[in-house]
Amino acid sequence: MILGALEAGGTKMVCAIGDETGKIFEQVSIPTETPEITIPKLIEYFSQKGVEALGIGCFGPIDPDPDSATYGYITSTPKLAWANYNIVKAFEEALGCPVGFDTDVNGSVLGEVTFGQAKNKKCVVYVTIGTGVGAGIYIEGKLLHGMLHPEAGHVMIQKREGDTYKGKCPYHANCLEGHAAGPAIEERWGKKAVELKDNAEVWDLEAYYIAQALSGYVLTLSPDMIILGGGVMHQLQLFPLIRKYVTEILNGYIKTKELADMDNYIVPASLNDDQGIMGCLELARRSTL
Ligand code: ADP
Ligand code: ZN
Repeated sequence: MILGALEAGGTKMVCAIGDETGKIFEQVSIPTETPEITIPKLIEYFSQKGVEALGIGCFGPIDPDPDSATYGYITSTPKLAWANYNIVKAFEEALGCPVGFDTDVNGSVLGEVTFGQAKNKKCVVYVTIGTGVGAGIYIEGKLLHGMLHPEAGHVMIQKREGDTYKGKCPYHANCLEGHAAGPAIEERWGKKAVELKDNAEVWDLEAYYIAQALSGYVLTLSPDMIILGGGVMHQLQLFPLIRKYVTEILNGYIKTKELADMDNYIVPASLNDDQGIMGCLELARRSTL
């Protein structure tokens, strides 16, 4: 099958053509401006390629519920030009093919489960820590939606004593995104995250906050694997620290072979940063079923 994949982000739109095995034939990136400017460029690209289906992994919040009146919309996003925009309809009408639609992070977890290191796992959480924090959740063959879709980047954290930073989330004083996303690191420490590489205190605090959220996901969802991606996770020194704090927080309460093997439980993304776009290929394939 010739499948189209669109990873719709707040700064860029990654478009690819590939197939159901996850093979990517070609890929381009188009800046995200307004729908009026950007959507026609995307349609022009995909309409020349003969795609049999398109999968979209989208920044949100979105409405992924096919039974809802606003299915296919980007809903209350802070990127105002895109708020209440029906992105699925735009492509269905222009391309005349099935369109699969989910959050960007659900796309990423689907890519890892279908083509990457999480094959054959029953429950997988993919967390991105970048400009924001978000989580995609795969449970027994399906992507989790529920009433909307998970917004697990905004779970509450307990502040470390002496941490006086007020947080960057306009909604919550003490959520993970507000304290651990790239912009929060930059505001707290006065430098870009990448420039703080050698400051051990930065990564210890960062790992402590991430570990609190992951421990909550472990207790709530019982995942087989937790995958961490996004720009901030390029700081690979975070991984051993996060594993250490998750182990400390859980404090031996849950005894499984997975938790006994932390190095293979909390892991970096496995598909060379293609997990999102490959997941969109699988979203496209699933839309034809
Ligand atoms: P987005 O979330 O917009 O899709 P990224 O996942 O690349 O994009 O996240 C961007 C954020 O990650 C920025 O806040 C940036 O400071 C931070 N970041 C990017 N690269 C690195 C790095 N190598 N080390 C630490 N932080 C990084
Ligand atoms: Zn928040």
